Amino acid sequence: MANAIVPPLMPGSEDEMGHSLVDLLRHHAARSPQAICLAYEDEAISFQALDDRSNKVANALIAQGVQPGDRVALLDMSSPLSYELIYGCAKAGAIMMPLNWRLSAREIAAIVANGRPRVLLYAASLVSLLDEVTTPLVRINIDQDYATWRDAASAQDPCLVYAPDDAVLLLYTSGTTGQPKGVMISHRNLSFVGRTAAEAWSFSAASVNLVAMPLFHIGGIGYGMMALSQGGKTVLVRQADAKTVMDAMRRHHATHGFFVPTVIQQLVDRAEECGDVPDSMERMIYGGAAMSPTLLARALAAFGCSFSHAYGMTETSGTVISLPPEDHALDGPHAERLRSCGRPFPWVELAIMDPAQGQRVASGEVGEIWVRSGMNMRGYWENPQATAATITPDGWLRTGDAACLDADGYVYIRDRYKDMIVSGGENIYPTEIENVLHTHQAVKEVAVVGVPHPRWGETPRAFVVLKPGETVTDTALREFTRARLAHYKCPTSFVMLAALPRNASGKVLKHELRALQAEGTT
Ligand code: AMP
Repeated sequence: MANAIVPPLMPGSEDEMGHSLVDLLRHHAARSPQAICLAYEDEAISFQALDDRSNKVANALIAQGVQPGDRVALLDMSSPLSYELIYGCAKAGAIMMPLNWRLSAREIAAIVANGRPRVLLYAASLVSLLDEVTTPLVRINIDQDYATWRDAASAQDPCLVYAPDDAVLLLYTSGTTGQPKGVMISHRNLSFVGRTAAEAWSFSAASVNLVAMPLFHIGGIGYGMMALSQGGKTVLVRQADAKTVMDAMRRHHATHGFFVPTVIQQLVDRAEECGDVPDSMERMIYGGAAMSPTLLARALAAFGCSFSHAYGMTETSGTVISLPPEDHALDGPHAERLRSCGRPFPWVELAIMDPAQGQRVASGEVGEIWVRSGMNMRGYWENPQATAATITPDGWLRTGDAACLDADGYVYIRDRYKDMIVSGGENIYPTEIENVLHTHQAVKEVAVVGVPHPRWGETPRAFVVLKPGETVTDTALREFTRARLAHYKCPTSFVMLAALPRNASGKVLKHELRALQAEGTT
């Protein structure tokens, strides 16, 4: 192994920060070099191999001219390369920028223009998504050149010094304006992965963590470091369909997994249909969107293991509120807690605030969830206005989610203040869709809202007012959006109206559009 001297891992620290992701990797590589750290298809990578490979990636990036703070983008589906790259970037002081391969070429180009990575690694099968990228950068074809590029570099740890608040990950969200916003996640932010893994979700060196969520989300790449932080094994799957996930659980004797409700539903459907449930699972973690109590009851019955609910966001570096297994008793004295997402982690402060007044609401009343901890993002990349609108001067992060607290401090999510749709675990901001439909020559006005969907939880519906004398079919509008947006963002239904309902100041009354849908009058 290249790096022989390993700093010992000391428990606790002044500000409750855990150990940095890089220190944890070095530690496990020194202590159990041959233990399998990553499994993917027929590949098994040891801690030593990941440590060596990430050293090589760091040195290759440095040789490429990558300076501390430079971004390195990745356009690929889940594979161990994401982890070679994030640890490699961390060791080189660079910032990894995973790109969402479900987006359109136009959306990818906007993100690349915003983040301006110096190097971009891409899978050959996804190259057409780079058609509209004009930013100058070094491109590395993963399938052709990556291994040679990496292995030509030294496996010596570059041992660069970085500050805990240096960014190491840049994850893009669209945000309410429809413009891409890069969430800067720091070494300090990710150091809480180890604490979450050990203290909240019972990960250990014996754990086998199944990572089914895409690695361009915090629920994929961040969650995927849980077992890794404890010296356990991480299993990556390329797709989150029920068969692939169940097969991987069985093959690798998975003990842990995080899934969004849409995937939980598919897993439960399959478990009930085939009755062939892997018996190795110890902990299923669900969250990212609201999940119905009926589905939760079915999941508990089908898997018979411990469950934890997880609430968090990219801007909080992942989960900050969680409902533990002991609160999952369907008929216990506190069965109502199953409708909550739990209590904040001990290292997270929580306040339920009146978003307009900036004051705490009275006990039991609904207000906006504000959180403060070392997990709050550094800020949005080169976007001080958006950062100031989200993080208060004294460090509270406004989530945009509406919730109330019970007397025991459990958080019950009620609604969202922000205009966002969660469909199959992906966030969609209506403004993005509205901006695109506004460019259609027949469209005068448009408003998009989320409507319930049995499979995806929610799906976008567009309410459209046409210009006088214009006609257009739903199919034509659908094709128009599909050519410009990720397919999961495209409205699944269109409703033509003579005018949009607006208040006195001209703001579209989206709750009225939602009510129209609920009454079935559309
Ligand atoms: P993301 O940044 O993609 O992780 O999305 C974060 C948003 O997803 C939150 O602000 C919530 O609106 C929603 N969300 C996350 N976890 C939950 C949950 N457990 N229940 C309901 N909504 C959730």
